[in-house]
Amino acid sequence: MGDYKLRCIECGTQIDENYTLSCPNDNSLIRADYQSKQLKVQEYPGMWKFFDWLPIHAFFDMDAVSISYKSEELAKELGLKDLYISFSGYWPERGAQIKTCSFKELEAPATFQRIIENPVGRLVIASAGNTANAFAYTSTITKIPVVLVVPEDYLHKLWLPVPISDSVKLITLKEGNDYFDAITLAGRLAADLEGLVPEGGAKNIARRDGMGTVMLETVTRTIKTVPAHYFQAIGSGTGAIACWEAAIRLVEDGRFGDQLPKLHLAQNLPFAPMYHAWRDGRTEIVPEQDMPEAKQLIAQMDANILSNRKPPYSVTGGVHDALSATSGQMYGVTNDELHSAGKLFLSLEGIDILPAAKVAVGAMVQAVEAGKVGLDDIIMLNITGGGLERLKEDQDIHKVEPDLVVDGSDVALDEVNEVIFG
Ligand SMILES: *Cc1c(COP(=O)(O)O)cnc(C)c1O
Ligand SMILES: [Zn+2]
Repeated sequence: MGDYKLRCIECGTQIDENYTLSCPNDNSLIRADYQSKQLKVQEYPGMWKFFDWLPIHAFFDMDAVSISYKSEELAKELGLKDLYISFSGYWPERGAQIKTCSFKELEAPATFQRIIENPVGRLVIASAGNTANAFAYTSTITKIPVVLVVPEDYLHKLWLPVPISDSVKLITLKEGNDYFDAITLAGRLAADLEGLVPEGGAKNIARRDGMGTVMLETVTRTIKTVPAHYFQAIGSGTGAIACWEAAIRLVEDGRFGDQLPKLHLAQNLPFAPMYHAWRDGRTEIVPEQDMPEAKQLIAQMDANILSNRKPPYSVTGGVHDALSATSGQMYGVTNDELHSAGKLFLSLEGIDILPAAKVAVGAMVQAVEAGKVGLDDIIMLNITGGGLERLKEDQDIHKVEPDLVVDGSDVALDEVNEVIFG
């Protein structure tokens, strides 16, 4: 149990165990090839119950896991017979206990466990909000150190369900810098400062297989078969790649059907580079065409957590491949559609959801109206985050303050070093 090999998706080369990397031959994503081809759901807490399909050899005390159920009200409203909702957030009435309210809290535990097993340095991560909350919270609980890089414009979105520990170092970039600038700075720190290692984003197999547990949970506990359709809002698309890979493993398992789900992936207009590139039939994002004036477009999004200017679209095993392999579709969802979808979901399912999750609901409404799904088809809607308002009814949330504020990615390294390592 729990054993695996790392393999390049493009050339099949077996890669030696290491924290995270892409294939040295071709830069393709690598994937964990688990020894257990049939998933045995273990009696472990939280997401660790999917230990056999996580790239780790042990685990620590942490109980985050997504939940799933069959929708009645939203399904009825849309005329759907088999709509299943997976929910990553806080909703105690349904047993959902993710305290930072998004599926990013499923990436953090497996990633931290991998860094314990491959102690190559302290993790540095750029974030537009939910990732920072998830990693800061997990670090606070485990005391495993982490360095977070966040644009100041997103600082108001950072909070924790507990007071933050000093195992977390937060660097913010002054107003006017976006998520991409944070990614650039995080990359620079990881490259130039001794003792730091980049978290890896889509390349991080712990991050992917951690988020893939949403598919595993929904299929093994609720649907009992791989769904025909999968809806998710994407910024990088890492979560969607993750659920596609989990579905591939479930199909290989043999007990959950033989058809991969069609991916229906959504972005928030007007910033929707993958939506534009896919719609135009391109394997590459062309910035001048797909995101002219990116910063201005991003400023107009209500779900700006989805604003990634360099998503893993073209890389082997990335979003383009996932869409191609599943005859998938991309959707562009406006702010207006996002808001009506959020109201619909709250009134029918009874829980508040995050703006990004509203984008997924909006895409599903579009798909039903356009006849892109059959009304009798088995549909999985990934509600990637929610329950923040519900959480506030039960407990205080704590704001976090930066340890260092910098002008942009051109920073004085010794100053950063002093803040991180003191
Ligand atoms: C990060 C995030 C997404 C987008 O996830 P991808 O990594 O792009 O698949 C969607 N919803 C929420 C709530 C998120 O935090
Ligand atoms: Zn390779």
